[in-house]
Amino acid sequence: MKFVLASRNPKKIKELRTLLSAYLSDVEILSLDDVGFYDEIEENGNTFEENALIKARVAARSGYIGLGDDSGLCVDALDGEPGIYSARYAAMHSSIDHSDAENNRVLLERMSSLSDAERGASFVCCFACVFPDGREFTVRGNAKGHILRDYRGVGGFGYDPLFYCDAVQKTFAELTAEEKNRISHRALAIAAFAQRFQKELN
Ligand code: IMP
Repeated sequence: MKFVLASRNPKKIKELRTLLSAYLSDVEILSLDDVGFYDEIEENGNTFEENALIKARVAARSGYIGLGDDSGLCVDALDGEPGIYSARYAAMHSSIDHSDAENNRVLLERMSSLSDAERGASFVCCFACVFPDGREFTVRGNAKGHILRDYRGVGGFGYDPLFYCDAVQKTFAELTAEEKNRISHRALAIAAFAQRFQKELN
């Protein structure tokens, strides 16, 4: 089964193939480059779902099944911030740099007055699927936890060292890649995607 993922990141392509192969046989994931699409996609949606769909629709123009994803961290007490702006959070709050380190620093600063009980957060991942005949659907994966006051762990990327996952009682940065791949928002979204996709095929 051939899919085009709206990404040029070889790590994302490889990871999706590995995770999806647990549910579907003969999975082949092509990148946008593989199908000759070299333009930038403007992610101007207002939700994770909208952004994932914008990307999946572009990927489906290839004639194959198009997939798009969008992820981020949502802090309950900040009305869902950083949300769809997770990758460039620091840049939106005065700092010009939006490296992982700056994004984390800005997040801690904005949460500094919040009590332990007010630090609930979720990592969210949304996948969108667009078939060449126009059918489309989205699914969501949620990993629940809270934001620590200081960094813990050295693995992962992004907000991982601040995100303490309730299910495993560790930060995402304290997990191996295999452990994270079993419980992460991305893993949950891919499982939901596989289930919904099978239904569409029947
Ligand atoms: P993307 O949509 O997967 O590119 O994720 C957008 C941004 O959300 C990333 O640049 C990170 O800041 C944040 N993010 C998404 N998933 C994770 C994760 O698993 N760990 C840490 N940060 C993440």
